[in-house]
Amino acid sequence: MSQVILPLNRGPEPVPMIDLVEQHQSIRTEVMSAVERVFDSQKFVLGDDVDSFEQDVARYCDSRFAIGCASGTDALVLALKGLGIGRGDEVITTPYSFFATASSITRAGARPVFVDIDPVTFNLCPEAVAAAITPKTRAIMPVHLYGQCADMEPLWRLSVRHGVSIVEDAAQALGATYRGRKAGVLGNIGCFSFFPTKNLGGAGDGGMMTTDDKDIAARLRRLRVHGDVGGYNHVEVGMNSRLDALQAAVLAVKLRHLDSWSAARQENAARYTQLFAEHQLTNRIELPAVDSDCGHVFNQYCIRVPNGQRDEVLAGLRQRQVGCAIYYPKPLHLQECFSHLGGSAGQFPEAERAAAETLALPIYPELGEARQQRVVEALVETFAELDASKSHSVRRAA
Ligand SMILES: *Cc1c(COP(=O)(O)O)cnc(C)c1O
Repeated sequence: MSQVILPLNRGPEPVPMIDLVEQHQSIRTEVMSAVERVFDSQKFVLGDDVDSFEQDVARYCDSRFAIGCASGTDALVLALKGLGIGRGDEVITTPYSFFATASSITRAGARPVFVDIDPVTFNLCPEAVAAAITPKTRAIMPVHLYGQCADMEPLWRLSVRHGVSIVEDAAQALGATYRGRKAGVLGNIGCFSFFPTKNLGGAGDGGMMTTDDKDIAARLRRLRVHGDVGGYNHVEVGMNSRLDALQAAVLAVKLRHLDSWSAARQENAARYTQLFAEHQLTNRIELPAVDSDCGHVFNQYCIRVPNGQRDEVLAGLRQRQVGCAIYYPKPLHLQECFSHLGGSAGQFPEAERAAAETLALPIYPELGEARQQRVVEALVETFAELDASKSHSVRRAA
């Protein structure tokens, strides 16, 4: 007689913050044949695969030119150098972003000037940008944080009025739109990252710059190869920052799926809205706000947990094996390496409040309803536990 072996009751399945394996399985054949093709050619740096992928990205963003490079960080540094920005210049940006936003400005030789964010979108506050412009300002660097474009129209006006450039940090926003136009064509140069966890992720590091300006495009092309204009003639000192053919070949395959993955992220976000309402969580957390001008591609789905409960909620979710993360726990003006810029606690209250209150939940395209249910149930349980421990301590104090 055969025995029925019941699985041990180990509780619900864990929900990872992101699962790249599942996505890879769905496109494995396509990706591996592209990889084999590059290996068979033995052409690994720049070359036809990179040229062709650059054209794909240019077409996708409706940009005249696209120039591949080694990472999103390098794209930002090259963009600033390509605009001739360096020593003595100021670039206005947000203190609430990934480190590379500001470090690229420093590495180009210029000075980052931080201004506070809009508390609803977490993006640069245009009024604060206007107030920070000086005769030394050469550029504004908005970040399309979490996959939603910054409020660009007021920045365009400032750019024209003061003759300053706009460099978009679009590392989290390939495919995002602002009034129907794609991120990457909303300023003078757009900068993208293909780090594996971005919406279009490679098999390692990679980056891209987009521009409509022919002269800037030519300069970016030479800056990524040591300023060489051909035949070992170096007209300026550039960097070694090239996109690998292997990355380009993999990314070209994945770009064909990007819109369906972005749509899946948007569906997941809509489902969270519905589930949070059903579970009466909307008075405990604030959901991400989608600006009516924007097509949000949700590289991250960040909620706000007010009342100083964020870290306890994070611990509660992790204890229930639900992946979550904080982007970003320490604003850039408070980083030790930028102390010479004179930043201090309390200087940018909204950036500091966001750093203390935001919590990113799983949003990857393959997440699906059952796992989202788990995330929401884990949140409900965590809040119930927090309420119980609070009323317990209130009783004891009485
Ligand atoms: C990822 C990211 C970068 C840097 O990209 P890398 O490819 O990792 O160098 C820059 N800015 C933002 C906002 C990012 O999210």
